[in-house]
Amino acid sequence: MLISRRVAFEAAHSYWLADLSAAENRRLFGSAASPSGHGHNYVCEAAVAGPVDPRSGLVANIAELNRRLRQVTDELDHRFINREHPYFQHRAPTCENLAAYVWQQLWPGVGGRELRRVRLAESRRLRAVRERTGQDEMTTLTRSYGFSAAHRLVSPHLSEAENREVFGKCFSSHGHGHDYVLEVTVGGEVDERTGMLIDLEELDQAVQEEVIGRYDGCHLNDDTEDFARLNPSSENLVHVVWERLRPRLGARLRKVGVHETERNYFEYVGDGDGAIAGPEP
Ligand SMILES: [Zn+2]
Ligand SMILES: [Zn+2]
Repeated sequence: MLISRRVAFEAAHSYWLADLSAAENRRLFGSAASPSGHGHNYVCEAAVAGPVDPRSGLVANIAELNRRLRQVTDELDHRFINREHPYFQHRAPTCENLAAYVWQQLWPGVGGRELRRVRLAESRRLRAVRERTGQDEMTTLTRSYGFSAAHRLVSPHLSEAENREVFGKCFSSHGHGHDYVLEVTVGGEVDERTGMLIDLEELDQAVQEEVIGRYDGCHLNDDTEDFARLNPSSENLVHVVWERLRPRLGARLRKVGVHETERNYFEYVGDGDGAIAGPEP
């Protein structure tokens, strides 16, 4: 059983390594590179896991989890993190390092229950997760992107009547559109110097070239090679995006998620074979 508590705090930070030139800082940190800094409305969530106490009916007292979490984030709240917090004097205050710091402060857990996950978001576009599964601890970073595209759900493996039955109004028209929200999750080692799992400019460029540049403003069936003969369902979309990003990001790619609407979400973590299911047409 896993329970979690979420708190919010506001803080400033800067991405700037003093021993690098302005151009090198910009290459590393993109538009966030500036010694003056900028701020975020951070949201931090911590989760602990364990059995339910039969007497109290609780895994742990969530008020205690809140108190411990607040103790850690109160030291960051309304501060300029690099300048005012001792831990970040010599560490970049990235999402990855902030999640690791909160993790370290809460470890081994609360009320005798083991810490399982710390999720730290600096915006709707960027969040880091530090989590433990079995004996493995890992950090992942998730970046969100938007693109708008039309599609018409149609499978070349089905007859016209079958397509109509399966896809309903999503088949029987020229198509309809979505403002897709794509989430790309990467994992691996955090670079000690930059505090980052991946160069965000590299990630953004890969996603721009492989996905956004190909699909944004397009009719997926009519305007893209990827879906000329493949049903542009969101199941196929997450798979195709995974196959496109995998050669660019390698083993760092951990998950591709797509919110087709606010109510429909699809995700793919790879299955090793790389083949898209379905008989040959
Ligand atoms: Zn920032
Ligand atoms: Zn649709």
